[in-house]
Amino acid sequence: MPTTPSPRERTREELLRLIRAGGGVTRADLTRLSGLSRSAVNAAVASLLADQAVTESDTAPKGPGTGSGRPGTRLRANGGPVAGIDFGHNHLHVAIADTTGAVLGDRRVEMDVDLAAEEAMDAAADLLAGLRREHGLEEIEAVVAGIPGPIDIRSGLVQSPTILSGWVGRSPVQELGRRVGVPVHVENDAALGAMGELYAGTGRDHRDFLYVKAAHGIGASLVLDGRLYRGGTGLAGEIGHTNLAGRSELCRCGNRGCLEAVVSMTSVLEQVAHTHPGVPLEEVPLGDAADAVTRRILQESGRVLGHAVSDLCNLVNPTAVIVGGDLGSGNPCFVQGVEEAVRRYALPAMADALVVAPAALGTLAELRGAIELAVRRTGLPAGPK
Ligand SMILES: [Zn+2]
Repeated sequence: MPTTPSPRERTREELLRLIRAGGGVTRADLTRLSGLSRSAVNAAVASLLADQAVTESDTAPKGPGTGSGRPGTRLRANGGPVAGIDFGHNHLHVAIADTTGAVLGDRRVEMDVDLAAEEAMDAAADLLAGLRREHGLEEIEAVVAGIPGPIDIRSGLVQSPTILSGWVGRSPVQELGRRVGVPVHVENDAALGAMGELYAGTGRDHRDFLYVKAAHGIGASLVLDGRLYRGGTGLAGEIGHTNLAGRSELCRCGNRGCLEAVVSMTSVLEQVAHTHPGVPLEEVPLGDAADAVTRRILQESGRVLGHAVSDLCNLVNPTAVIVGGDLGSGNPCFVQGVEEAVRRYALPAMADALVVAPAALGTLAELRGAIELAVRRTGLPAGPK
């Protein structure tokens, strides 16, 4: 299981980031840079040393007045460059980053990931190998990949034969690991989107939030008390197949009336095509430039999603609903529709304390989450996956 920050671990994460950026800092530096108390810094550093996330050296010259012992020793983060891989239903995006999480290079290709697991994993390995050659990186310390489907955390296998059909029964951990030659940690893509927003986006201000990836499918992930909540077997947040009363659209899972059969980029584009006869789809703008009819389609789709999300809000009482994916990012009308429905259907006292916002990282939330998770896995002893 990856390390995700509990409230107590936030201090540790912050100090690790300062140590990574500092290239040899002392505890006194950390106290000054972080504004934390010396005892808080000492406790967090002890924990980082115990986990082998950092090492300390006694070689730093002590300045006058530094006394003897620990204050003069310098701390350095363990770990090397990392990679993140984001498999979408229709794209593949690979990036390499340094130990601070700064992206060194990335590659993105459009492809049908759902049906072509072998090809998608081959392509990911090729893109990563190309990036490593280009940047002269012989070693990659950790790789984290997100796939747009349910993964059973007990077995590491892709579940549900009807959702990501080309991947069912496969172990992306093993198959990707064999291809890239580095141990790979695999998560559901919405979980990584939530992690991206938690560490580097809107989620930084929230301990309890829902992240919804609205793209060619609908996936969600829950961050509760500052931690990613996966559920008993890793399938928490699969709201795309929530049944909507009175709807009969056929879903790829075999049921009718599922949320994602009604709300997805695919269904939005079908409605846009229907309402713009004779106009090539690529000539009908979405986003800010959308016309009145397209805005109405986006807003109504957002309302349908928001109605389903309001039930989740009543259950877990988040302080934010963060909407990402192609639909959530760059389509204010869609997010506005989500917000309207959440305010209409969630318990009023709940909705009053709730922010509904697009993902600050846009469609890069999943890749950022993969990188942030990979950075946090470097220098850690190999634990249970
Ligand atoms: Zn379904």
